[in-house]
Amino acid sequence: MTSAATTSALDVLHDVFGYEEFRGQQAAIVDQIVGGGDAVVLMPTGGGKSLCYQIPALVRPGTGVVISPLIALMADQVAALENLGVRAAYLNSSLDFDTAQQVEQQLLAGELDLLYLAPERLVLPRTMRLLEQAQISLFAIDEAHCVSQWGHDFRSDYLGLGVLAERFPDVPRIALTATATPATHAELTERLHLQDAEHFVASFDRPNITYRIEPKASARSQLLNFITTEHHGDSGIVYCLSRRGVDQLAEALVARGLTALPYHAGLPSEVRAQNQARFLREDGIVMVATIAFGMGIDKPDVRFVAHLDLPRSVEGYYQETGRAGRDGLPADAWMVYGLGDVVSQRRLIESGEGDQVFKRRQMSHLDSMLALCETVDCRRVQLLRYFDEESAPCGNCDTCMTPPVTWDATVAVQKLLSAVIRLDRERGQRFGSGQVIDVLRGNDNDRSRSSDHASLSVWGVGDDLSESQWKTVIRQVLARGLLESHGDYGVLVVGENAGPVLRGEEEISLRVDPVKKSGGKKAGSS
Ligand code: ADP
Ligand code: ZN
Repeated sequence: MTSAATTSALDVLHDVFGYEEFRGQQAAIVDQIVGGGDAVVLMPTGGGKSLCYQIPALVRPGTGVVISPLIALMADQVAALENLGVRAAYLNSSLDFDTAQQVEQQLLAGELDLLYLAPERLVLPRTMRLLEQAQISLFAIDEAHCVSQWGHDFRSDYLGLGVLAERFPDVPRIALTATATPATHAELTERLHLQDAEHFVASFDRPNITYRIEPKASARSQLLNFITTEHHGDSGIVYCLSRRGVDQLAEALVARGLTALPYHAGLPSEVRAQNQARFLREDGIVMVATIAFGMGIDKPDVRFVAHLDLPRSVEGYYQETGRAGRDGLPADAWMVYGLGDVVSQRRLIESGEGDQVFKRRQMSHLDSMLALCETVDCRRVQLLRYFDEESAPCGNCDTCMTPPVTWDATVAVQKLLSAVIRLDRERGQRFGSGQVIDVLRGNDNDRSRSSDHASLSVWGVGDDLSESQWKTVIRQVLARGLLESHGDYGVLVVGENAGPVLRGEEEISLRVDPVKKSGGKKAGSS
């Protein structure tokens, strides 16, 4: 690769960015775009995607237009480029009229190397006309997985980006993302009309990230223990499902002496911006956030990403955990999950928007996530396989470091399934896990007395297992689809593929949850 194009690209790499050499596939990608071709780039977080379009934008005549959904970050990205002497600007809703005019004038006068635009702005007829009058060197579509309707970050404005192919047939386009399963990859290629593009797919492995998924007992004290013993003073992100959960946890962590800040879409935008800025600038801040936080955040030294609630998909999990350890130094992806997560995620899907096809797809995303949680094999192998990448056991995840112990749970699962069936048939009603465990263990309490559970044939057949052992069994059985939970109360229903187990044709081996450290119970608060 010693074409004239890459030679000057290399000059730009040295002179503008101050780097010695290209990394991985950067040189080939830059070459493709400089030469006028299209590209689809799948590269993990921290892989160096930005240079793949920034350098061609500087080599080719005209302005490179970068489409990004991350309005909040545009000012920072532009400032960083200006620091390097690159003529960059952005157009978004935060600019006043005069400033926007000025940027438009600069664009038309050929005074910009890079222009950042939000997708909703780009597709406006007015913006289209403006761009047609200017000289455009390339279009870079960042976070391109957002065009996937089935994905975890769908943005409807991205659907409009397909028109770029027709309106600007001679302008090279490059789509980039850090998460794409084969299905998402195919979908974004089609929707963005990138059929003729060259595809660059890097390994998705993040070897410096240690993956750990633990059973949830008292999430808050488990988290506190994790942070204080392993990450005292480190920067980290803790993901929670709900805004309320975020607020409460941030407060609780502050009460324990940690510097924790909340971030979710319900906070005023000034507060969000301020918290984000502090997280980026200061050391040792724990950001407690919903998934609204993080896309595009370029903080190299995030030492841990913790999940207190189950992510909706493996893609989401991979992307969120990928924000740890961008500097290549060891980092932890730590998560606790329990029976309640399975039930609540299913409930969210059931009661959420979308048609049946959409919901079924979401259920299958959730199932893959659950399979990752319950696997007894290497987490990394399973994670990478999800992205169609084969690998060997990594030695750097919990299941590699402490192989899970399994037990023959066939009889226990038969009892469980029978109890669910009996309750349904003999009581004509479906019950949640609490009452099913009451029945199995023969718990004599007000709840079971009022339903006369003691008269059931399955009453007490499972008193050999403890309450928490049954929860573990139910969680894993739900994860495998032998049971399903439905509705607001998470009532249990026997799943479609339970037949062989009930007939004794299939053995079930389940993992034994590691024994929790003592003292966790007393400190427990959630
Ligand atoms: P991504 O967008 O893929 O997450 P970035 O483009 O933000 O990654 O790059 C990650 C980090 O790696 C940045 O700090 C960037 O400056 C650095 N980087 C990228 N390419 C190179 C290179 N060729 N040599 C040295 N550092 C690089
Ligand atoms: Zn492993």
